[in-house]
Amino acid sequence: MRVTFATEPAQPGVPNEDFVAATEDAVIVIDGVGTTGIESGCIHDAPWYVGQLGRTLLNHLSTRPGHGLDVLLADAIRDVAASHADTCDTTHPGTPSATVVILRQHLENLDYLVLADSTLVLDQGDEPLVICDNRHDDVAQHLWAEMASLPVGTTEHAQARARFMVQMQKHRNSPGGFWVAAADPTVAKEAIRGSVPASTVKAAALLSDGASRFVDVFEEANWPQTLALLAADGPSELLRQTRAIEAADPHGERWHRGKVSDDATVAYCTDFTR
Ligand SMILES: [Zn+2]
Repeated sequence: MRVTFATEPAQPGVPNEDFVAATEDAVIVIDGVGTTGIESGCIHDAPWYVGQLGRTLLNHLSTRPGHGLDVLLADAIRDVAASHADTCDTTHPGTPSATVVILRQHLENLDYLVLADSTLVLDQGDEPLVICDNRHDDVAQHLWAEMASLPVGTTEHAQARARFMVQMQKHRNSPGGFWVAAADPTVAKEAIRGSVPASTVKAAALLSDGASRFVDVFEEANWPQTLALLAADGPSELLRQTRAIEAADPHGERWHRGKVSDDATVAYCTDFTR
């Protein structure tokens, strides 16, 4: 598998709460949920959590090639929770959390796992297969009316966003709500999982929501056009164009969004022949 990727924080000089990494046959994208200004019961921050989860998951993927992706994710969540149980209350509803996308080539297949609202796109020649768990957005759209009424970038918007985040915590990892990686390993069973023959896939893209907004918020292009852009110009160009759109709408007047810019990551994978 050939993988190229690009990742960048929402603004230059601030920590990136996205994580991307690859082994010779697997790639992962993790998007941490920001905890700034919100009670979390944890002395660590989102970049710490995504780094720990990412490196632990990568280790399990590398050393246990035949195991189910849900099993490996569950074990990684359990290991990370144990690593800070002595200093932190990992049962707190605000404990650090993250979305997860995994793509792995195993034998003749590509196995995938998508937990929460990061996106996996598989280019199978005709209409791409787009996999994203939208339960987060289904909950969010009922709760963010107040935030949506305020200009992005203002103090009032930031305060409304903090209230929104606290409300969202009540629906996190509970039936009828949405599911993210945090401290409970059983959430791995809630992920969307599947497997396709590697020979049927020309390319695959893994995107955090800061990058998928190019398509699903800004509607700058559809997925086939975006796959063509990635094939021609690579992940960095997709991030550059996303940032240009955001810069042209600094107050979120044309496209309402929780943040003017978000941490953005794209991993683009090709050459699945063995
Ligand atoms: Zn902690």
